[in-house]
Amino acid sequence: MTVHHTRHHQTYVSNLNGVLTGDHGSEIQGLSLADIQKKISTLPDPILTTVMNHGGGHYNHCLFFSTLAPETDTVPAPVDELKTKVDSDFGSFDAMRKQFDATAMKVFGSGWAWLGVDPDGKLAITSTRNQENPLMQGIVPEPTTPIMGLDIWEHAMYLKYLNRRPEYIDAFWHIIDWEQVAANYASAREGSTAIFDVPMEE
Ligand code: MN
Repeated sequence: MTVHHTRHHQTYVSNLNGVLTGDHGSEIQGLSLADIQKKISTLPDPILTTVMNHGGGHYNHCLFFSTLAPETDTVPAPVDELKTKVDSDFGSFDAMRKQFDATAMKVFGSGWAWLGVDPDGKLAITSTRNQENPLMQGIVPEPTTPIMGLDIWEHAMYLKYLNRRPEYIDAFWHIIDWEQVAANYASAREGSTAIFDVPMEE
Protein backbone atom coordinates (compact mmCIF):
# COMPACT_ATOMS: atom_id res chain seq x y z
CA MET A 1 0.00 0.00 0.00
CA THR A 2 2.94 2.35 0.61
CA VAL A 3 4.22 2.03 -2.96
CA HIS A 4 0.69 2.50 -4.24
CA HIS A 5 0.18 5.62 -2.16
CA THR A 6 3.45 7.45 -2.70
CA ARG A 7 4.45 6.53 -6.24
CA HIS A 8 1.20 6.32 -8.15
CA HIS A 9 -0.73 8.98 -6.27
CA GLN A 10 2.10 11.52 -6.62
CA THR A 11 1.88 11.25 -10.43
CA TYR A 12 -1.77 12.31 -10.33
CA VAL A 13 -1.03 15.26 -8.03
CA SER A 14 1.93 16.45 -10.13
CA ASN A 15 0.02 16.30 -13.41
CA LEU A 16 -3.02 18.09 -11.96
CA ASN A 17 -0.70 20.80 -10.62
CA GLY A 18 0.77 21.04 -14.13
CA VAL A 19 -2.69 21.94 -15.46
CA LEU A 20 -3.37 24.40 -12.62
CA THR A 21 -0.21 26.35 -13.43
CA GLY A 22 -0.48 25.92 -17.24
CA ASP A 23 -2.10 27.89 -20.08
CA HIS A 24 -5.64 26.75 -19.24
CA GLY A 25 -5.18 26.74 -15.48
CA SER A 26 -7.84 29.41 -14.99
CA GLU A 27 -10.47 26.83 -16.00
CA ILE A 28 -9.98 25.01 -12.70
CA GLN A 29 -8.19 27.50 -10.43
CA GLY A 30 -10.10 28.26 -7.22
CA LEU A 31 -12.36 25.23 -7.61
CA SER A 32 -12.60 22.50 -5.02
CA LEU A 33 -11.40 19.02 -5.94
CA ALA A 34 -15.05 17.92 -5.99
CA ASP A 35 -16.10 20.77 -8.29
CA ILE A 36 -13.27 19.95 -10.69
CA GLN A 37 -14.80 16.47 -11.08
CA LYS A 38 -18.31 17.89 -11.62
CA LYS A 39 -17.06 20.36 -14.28
CA ILE A 40 -14.93 17.99 -16.30
CA SER A 41 -17.33 17.58 -19.23
CA THR A 42 -17.24 21.39 -19.75
CA LEU A 43 -13.43 21.72 -19.89
CA PRO A 44 -11.65 22.56 -23.18
CA ASP A 45 -10.01 19.75 -25.15
CA PRO A 46 -6.37 20.65 -24.38
CA ILE A 47 -6.86 19.87 -20.66
CA LEU A 48 -9.92 17.61 -20.55
CA THR A 49 -8.11 14.26 -20.71
CA THR A 50 -5.37 15.26 -18.27
CA VAL A 51 -7.86 16.59 -15.72
CA MET A 52 -10.08 13.53 -16.14
CA ASN A 53 -7.17 11.10 -15.63
CA HIS A 54 -5.11 12.95 -13.04
CA GLY A 55 -7.71 15.14 -11.31
CA GLY A 56 -9.89 12.03 -11.19
CA GLY A 57 -6.98 9.93 -9.98
CA HIS A 58 -6.17 12.43 -7.23
CA TYR A 59 -9.76 12.61 -5.94
CA ASN A 60 -10.30 8.84 -6.20
CA HIS A 61 -7.17 7.98 -4.22
CA CYS A 62 -7.82 10.66 -1.56
CA LEU A 63 -11.28 9.21 -0.95
CA PHE A 64 -10.04 5.60 -1.07
CA PHE A 65 -7.17 6.05 1.40
CA SER A 66 -9.25 8.23 3.76
CA THR A 67 -11.72 5.37 4.34
CA LEU A 68 -9.12 2.72 5.23
CA ALA A 69 -8.40 1.61 8.81
CA PRO A 70 -6.00 -0.95 10.34
CA GLU A 71 -6.91 -4.53 9.42
CA THR A 72 -9.26 -6.42 11.73
CA ASP A 73 -9.93 -10.19 11.89
CA THR A 74 -13.67 -9.77 11.66
CA VAL A 75 -15.39 -7.74 8.97
CA PRO A 76 -16.45 -4.38 10.43
CA ALA A 77 -19.93 -3.19 9.52
CA PRO A 78 -21.74 0.15 9.51
CA VAL A 79 -23.58 1.18 12.69
CA ASP A 80 -26.33 3.63 13.65
CA GLU A 81 -27.72 5.82 10.87
CA LEU A 82 -25.66 4.31 8.04
CA LYS A 83 -26.58 0.77 9.14
CA THR A 84 -30.28 1.72 9.05
CA LYS A 85 -29.82 3.23 5.58
CA VAL A 86 -27.95 0.16 4.25
CA ASP A 87 -30.66 -2.14 5.63
CA SER A 88 -33.40 -0.02 4.09
CA ASP A 89 -31.79 0.38 0.63
CA PHE A 90 -30.21 -3.09 0.22
CA GLY A 91 -32.06 -5.33 2.70
CA SER A 92 -28.92 -6.06 4.76
CA PHE A 93 -25.20 -5.35 5.01
CA ASP A 94 -24.48 -8.80 3.52
CA ALA A 95 -26.72 -8.06 0.54
CA MET A 96 -24.91 -4.75 0.00
CA ARG A 97 -21.56 -6.47 0.26
CA LYS A 98 -22.57 -9.11 -2.32
CA GLN A 99 -23.70 -6.45 -4.77
CA PHE A 100 -20.50 -4.44 -4.26
CA ASP A 101 -18.35 -7.56 -4.78
CA ALA A 102 -20.22 -8.47 -7.97
CA THR A 103 -19.82 -4.93 -9.30
CA ALA A 104 -16.11 -4.88 -8.45
CA MET A 105 -15.60 -8.26 -10.13
CA LYS A 106 -17.31 -7.05 -13.32
CA VAL A 107 -15.02 -4.03 -13.82
CA PHE A 108 -13.32 -4.77 -17.14
CA GLY A 109 -9.67 -3.76 -17.10
CA SER A 110 -8.95 -0.84 -14.78
CA GLY A 111 -11.54 1.13 -12.85
CA TRP A 112 -13.28 1.64 -9.55
CA ALA A 113 -16.27 0.28 -7.61
CA TRP A 114 -18.25 2.81 -5.55
CA LEU A 115 -20.82 3.16 -2.83
CA GLY A 116 -22.55 6.51 -3.25
CA VAL A 117 -25.71 8.50 -2.73
CA ASP A 118 -27.79 8.85 -5.90
CA PRO A 119 -29.86 11.91 -6.91
CA ASP A 120 -32.92 10.42 -5.14
CA GLY A 121 -31.00 10.08 -1.86
CA LYS A 122 -30.67 6.30 -2.11
CA LEU A 123 -27.43 4.41 -1.62
CA ALA A 124 -26.21 3.04 -4.95
CA ILE A 125 -23.34 0.78 -6.01
CA THR A 126 -21.77 1.70 -9.34
CA SER A 127 -18.50 1.30 -11.20
CA THR A 128 -16.46 3.61 -13.41
CA ARG A 129 -13.65 3.15 -15.94
CA ASN A 130 -10.04 4.22 -15.58
CA GLN A 131 -9.87 7.22 -13.20
CA GLU A 132 -13.44 8.35 -13.87
CA ASN A 133 -15.68 8.71 -10.81
CA PRO A 134 -19.39 9.20 -10.08
CA LEU A 135 -19.03 12.98 -9.55
CA MET A 136 -18.28 13.37 -13.29
CA GLN A 137 -21.70 14.46 -14.49
CA GLY A 138 -22.06 14.15 -18.25
CA ILE A 139 -19.23 11.59 -18.39
CA VAL A 140 -20.48 8.65 -16.32
CA PRO A 141 -23.93 7.06 -16.83
CA GLU A 142 -24.83 6.90 -13.12
CA PRO A 143 -23.71 10.02 -11.21
CA THR A 144 -23.71 9.79 -7.40
CA THR A 145 -21.94 11.44 -4.50
CA PRO A 146 -19.43 8.73 -3.60
CA ILE A 147 -18.87 7.89 0.07
CA MET A 148 -16.53 4.91 -0.44
CA GLY A 149 -14.56 3.54 -3.38
CA LEU A 150 -12.36 0.57 -4.18
CA ASP A 151 -9.44 0.84 -6.59
CA ILE A 152 -9.63 -1.95 -9.21
CA TRP A 153 -6.39 -1.07 -10.99
CA GLU A 154 -3.72 -3.68 -11.32
CA HIS A 155 -1.24 -1.36 -9.57
CA ALA A 156 -3.45 -1.51 -6.45
CA MET A 157 -3.13 -5.28 -6.09
CA TYR A 158 -0.10 -6.59 -7.95
CA LEU A 159 2.42 -6.43 -5.11
CA LYS A 160 0.40 -8.60 -2.74
CA TYR A 161 -2.37 -10.28 -4.74
CA LEU A 162 -1.02 -10.43 -8.30
CA ASN A 163 -4.24 -10.73 -10.28
CA ARG A 164 -6.30 -12.49 -7.60
CA ARG A 165 -9.09 -9.96 -7.51
CA PRO A 166 -11.52 -11.92 -5.25
CA GLU A 167 -8.89 -12.08 -2.46
CA TYR A 168 -8.10 -8.42 -2.91
CA ILE A 169 -11.78 -7.44 -2.65
CA ASP A 170 -12.23 -9.68 0.40
CA ALA A 171 -9.24 -8.06 2.12
CA PHE A 172 -10.79 -4.62 1.50
CA TRP A 173 -13.77 -5.48 3.74
CA HIS A 174 -11.37 -5.99 6.66
CA ILE A 175 -9.89 -2.48 6.44
CA ILE A 176 -12.92 -0.21 5.91
CA ASP A 177 -13.23 2.72 8.33
CA TRP A 178 -17.03 2.82 8.63
CA GLU A 179 -16.91 5.89 10.88
CA GLN A 180 -15.37 7.83 8.00
CA VAL A 181 -17.80 6.34 5.47
CA ALA A 182 -20.67 7.33 7.80
CA ALA A 183 -19.29 10.88 8.00
CA ASN A 184 -19.10 10.94 4.20
CA TYR A 185 -22.72 9.74 4.06
CA ALA A 186 -23.86 12.48 6.46
CA SER A 187 -22.22 15.07 4.17
CA ALA A 188 -23.51 13.50 0.96
CA ARG A 189 -27.06 13.54 2.30
CA GLU A 190 -26.71 17.33 2.51
CA GLY A 191 -25.32 17.45 -1.06
CA SER A 192 -21.75 17.99 0.13
CA THR A 193 -18.49 16.11 -0.41
CA ALA A 194 -17.00 17.41 2.88
CA ILE A 195 -13.22 17.96 2.68
CA PHE A 196 -13.33 17.78 -1.11
CA ASP A 197 -15.44 20.96 -1.21
CA VAL A 198 -12.51 23.09 -0.07
CA PRO A 199 -10.92 25.16 -2.90
CA MET A 200 -7.67 23.62 -4.21
CA GLU A 201 -4.35 25.32 -3.69
CA GLU A 202 -1.56 25.09 -6.25
MN1 MN B 1 -4.54 3.31 -7.50
